[in-house]
Amino acid sequence: MRIDAQLRRQLIEAMAATVEAHWQELTALDQAIGDGDHGAGMKRGFDALLADADTLAEQKLPAALVAAGRTLVMSMGGASGPLYGTFFMELGKALGDVSDDALDRAGLAAGFARAMAAVAARGKSQPGQKTLLDVLAPVSAALERGEDADGIARVAAEAAEATVPMQALRGRAAFLGERSIGHMDPGARSASLIIGAVCAGLKETSA
Ligand code: ADP
Ligand code: MG
Repeated sequence: MRIDAQLRRQLIEAMAATVEAHWQELTALDQAIGDGDHGAGMKRGFDALLADADTLAEQKLPAALVAAGRTLVMSMGGASGPLYGTFFMELGKALGDVSDDALDRAGLAAGFARAMAAVAARGKSQPGQKTLLDVLAPVSAALERGEDADGIARVAAEAAEATVPMQALRGRAAFLGERSIGHMDPGARSASLIIGAVCAGLKETSA
């Protein structure tokens, strides 16, 4: 796939737009099983990327991802800020110095898996604990299976839904014990939104 400067800008805009459309929903989800700041944190983070879109888009994809990760760490806050930041930075590092034309599915799948592992290490967490990893893990598997953009977006949305009956074992929601059951995990939902936006953006260009 070819991810040039124009597409890099479109992907930043698409991520920021989905956060703009859904941040209040993320607030409500985090109010139910956390402290209610996840929507505001996501909005701060992705608004910061949008404000920086020109500088980010003119860098090659790996460097742009590393820079975006740093911006997210500095702007988002909360438990999710360092986790999102780690994901973007590690994905960028994993892609190495791939050129705009040379990114292939296998490279993307391997980079995604490495970035997910870094998030798990940073959060001392694993799938099954009602966190954003419960979206990242099935998406990583779908990438490795070679699913198309629509399939991956669907996997992400279903994985976020699947956190509803889970009991939280990490993060603030874990303090609620069984009372965390019956609510979607805010970080899982935000991860599914970001992945959905990227899939839609990539699909548009390859169509
Ligand atoms: P905070 O709990 O500091 O308010 P946020 O509201 O920004 O953090 O983000 C909460 C989300 O972060 C959770 O819904 C969950 O998906 C994710 N999260 C929190 N702690 C961890 C962890 N240790 N490992 C993985 N994900 C986590
Ligand atoms: Mg919170």
